[in-house]
Amino acid sequence: MKTKTDERATAEKFPRHIAAQSEDFNQWYTDVVTKGDLADYSPIKGCMVIKPYGYALWENIQRVLDGMIKETGHQNAYFPLFIPESFLKKEKEHVEGFSPELAVVTIAGGKELEEPLVVRPTSETIIYSMFAKWVHSYRDLPLLINQWANVVRWEKRTRLFLRTTEFLWQEGHTAHTTFDEAQGETLKMLGIYKKFAEEFLALPVIDGQKSESEKFAGAYATYSLEAMMKDNKALQSATSHNLGQNFAKAFGITFLDRDNLEQHVWQTSWGLSTRIIGAIIMTHGDERGLIMPPRIAPLQVVIVPIFSDEQKNVAILDAAQEIARDLAARDISAQIDDRTQETPGFKFNEWELKGVPMRIEIGARDMAQHAVTLVRRDTGKKESVAHNKVVAEVVALLQDIQRNLFTAAKERMEQHIFPVQSFAELKESMAEPKGFAVGGWCGSAVCEAAMKEKTGATIRNIPFHHYGTFTHCVGCGKKAAHTAIFAKAY
Ligand SMILES: [Zn+2]
Repeated sequence: MKTKTDERATAEKFPRHIAAQSEDFNQWYTDVVTKGDLADYSPIKGCMVIKPYGYALWENIQRVLDGMIKETGHQNAYFPLFIPESFLKKEKEHVEGFSPELAVVTIAGGKELEEPLVVRPTSETIIYSMFAKWVHSYRDLPLLINQWANVVRWEKRTRLFLRTTEFLWQEGHTAHTTFDEAQGETLKMLGIYKKFAEEFLALPVIDGQKSESEKFAGAYATYSLEAMMKDNKALQSATSHNLGQNFAKAFGITFLDRDNLEQHVWQTSWGLSTRIIGAIIMTHGDERGLIMPPRIAPLQVVIVPIFSDEQKNVAILDAAQEIARDLAARDISAQIDDRTQETPGFKFNEWELKGVPMRIEIGARDMAQHAVTLVRRDTGKKESVAHNKVVAEVVALLQDIQRNLFTAAKERMEQHIFPVQSFAELKESMAEPKGFAVGGWCGSAVCEAAMKEKTGATIRNIPFHHYGTFTHCVGCGKKAAHTAIFAKAY
């Protein structure tokens, strides 16, 4: 039997202490990522190692989103990591946008290359060089391709998951016969991302169009999802681009239409990356650590048998194994933590830090009552449930946790969106960001840049949702052309 003194000693040596979220949000973030076993720093500056627990989360994201991408008619393919430098230069805005962050291979196989190879920062150019070979007729369209890959952007300042030199993502690339069809695809995929974010990640998002200066380099128009983190900053969670015919013209992707006339295709590209993991962490996490939404959690239930001494109790362990089997039969992932060298309190802390949505405790007292204790990670609420009702109750509670996380995040976001009528109001609200400001914007890039310079906030997007009528630009006071969402952002 462990004594109170032993418990205290355990707490003191507990290696997983995390900074207070309310006091130092940035340190809290780093602590939960590293101590929650999601990722670690690598020997290469700016690159991260995604640890098994974090990678399991990414695999769940991949599995669900991949299913949604395929359901909407897209097929997966894979293109080379290297892109001939000349390809990037074919679309002027594209190369200008990406040049500062390119990694370039000039020597390979011991020889200087005739043409340097860029490590892909995104794959439009390499993929579209192939589209030009594959598309001949309107019968070849639409061409709907998705790729799961790593990309490299040489970032100056990096943070685990949020901004890393190498990151993982999916990038969709499509070609169509008309502008309208490409626009429909662009918005359809933004809608798929929104559904995925809200229903699986429990992330409420604001969908809308990016300003000209914030759009993707080479796009005709960019649309984004913006999520609000608990420190009131925005995190761009996915983007979808209508590329118009910019790349089609640069790469000569043409087709013969029904009248046998040669036309350029209309294109889209869209992506979601490992950055979204940062959004999950900073939307749901609390003072105790991470909180994983059940539908995407690497582990949904942890079962902690509570032994009365340092010996495993066979009856308790049998009960735990039976519950784990029953949960597995309902496709619920469960793990038994039967370590004897750690106290139950240590284990509770550890699994709470890792954000496992539910804990099942089974001790001698529970056994005597043919019951177990269920503990929710989101509210901390405990309940005793009879053995024969455990599975049904866990299923119901996981659904309730999923709903509760989304509702809480949505309410929080709505409470932190506020209208601004003047520049003074915008500036004041962004000093210590109070949330997202909604206000009028004249549409001028110069005015937009000046607001960014003076407040540190950017136009996140021009939202589809109607937040009210704003007649004047908060930046310059001229007539407003749009209603925009302003925020400080990751
Ligand atoms: Zn203005």
